[in-house]
Amino acid sequence: MRLVATGLSDVGMVREGNEDNYLHDERLGIFAVADGMGGHEAGEVASAVAIEALRAGVAGGSLITEAVIQANTAVLEKADANPAMRGMGTTLTAAIEVEGGLRIGHVGDSRAYVLRAGILARVTDDHSLVEELVRSGQITLEQAAVHPQRSVITRALGIERDIEVDDISLELTDGDRVLICSDGLSGMVRETEISAIMRRETDTDSAARALIASANAGGGEDNITVVVIDVIGEDGDPEPSPLPEIGVGIVAVRAREAREAASKAETPLGAPSALASESSTKPRRRMRVSRGVIWAAVPVVAIIAICIGLLGWYARGQYYVGYQGQRVVVFQGVPNGLAGWGPTVEWTSYLSRSDLTPAQRSTVSENISFPNEQRARESVSRFEADFEKRTTLSTTTTSTTTSSTTTTSTTTP
Ligand code: MG
Repeated sequence: MRLVATGLSDVGMVREGNEDNYLHDERLGIFAVADGMGGHEAGEVASAVAIEALRAGVAGGSLITEAVIQANTAVLEKADANPAMRGMGTTLTAAIEVEGGLRIGHVGDSRAYVLRAGILARVTDDHSLVEELVRSGQITLEQAAVHPQRSVITRALGIERDIEVDDISLELTDGDRVLICSDGLSGMVRETEISAIMRRETDTDSAARALIASANAGGGEDNITVVVIDVIGEDGDPEPSPLPEIGVGIVAVRAREAREAASKAETPLGAPSALASESSTKPRRRMRVSRGVIWAAVPVVAIIAICIGLLGWYARGQYYVGYQGQRVVVFQGVPNGLAGWGPTVEWTSYLSRSDLTPAQRSTVSENISFPNEQRARESVSRFEADFEKRTTLSTTTTSTTTSSTTTTSTTTP
């Protein structure tokens, strides 16, 4: 078995730069596509760093999963060393030649397909929100194709140190044709059309060119990258047989454990508001928005911090009259606090609860808010004035009574 490959990348019809990268090293037996993301050209750095680290890893003897993990580390370290590149990341779908086929390591929504017996089969699962919704039966494939969050990916290199890599074994037969591509192809060209091109074109060069032309004809809204690999028999027949043995059953033998673990661990990223404005009928504007959701983690945290700050500012701008124990006090803040901002005592009156009339107690219990401390204190001052008036009256009444009693006493005998 011998592998012959062509890799090709195109900026597409809309984007100004190309953030995709690819590799086809027949000597090392390694083939890969990486689709980078991140502003200020960081995306193309991420995909290039990942590809280079992958190549170095495989050249150094790493197995595929290990090499993808090394690529992840390389992207993270590059970002750590360059603040402008923080948050950059990349997908990576990589295949290394092994006895009898390919071993594929996969993170993100770039894809691997194999054409056998004229039938195109997808080998990888997308780590995307919509594909998870389809897998769990929440939406149909038709709904996924127009879903507003269809470009949200749930796994990428460059996000976290710990990365989960799908590890897939693909057995190959002479005449098979393998395709690794970025979503600039799979998002623009239907699988039936990809399959038709893969069947029709006689060599890897013409197949790669035709696939890219088809994505551009469909709008070319994202960078398009393909690596096409033909499996040639030992006799050196350069022509892939287009229709080998019909009914070859197993196309891809997947590492079930990896997939099951993956499905358990994957957590779709939320942030629907960031994407809600993307029309469901419009063809994808893609990545920049999509991957933005992952990169949005940082802005989202900042927005939450600002909201908490505003709530705190609002809460601390309020005053109300209440009780601390039995004492009447003026609080700064809102009753029971807001977003972690609890009320604090700003001023304490000499009045206690029992000094108030029932009507005043009920007013205090309502915790009516005041725009500033002065107004709140004035409100308590009125209670104090009223209390003093009542006390004076009460004293007067008592003296009168005493006097009267005395008078009565003196007159009794
Ligand atoms: Mg892309």
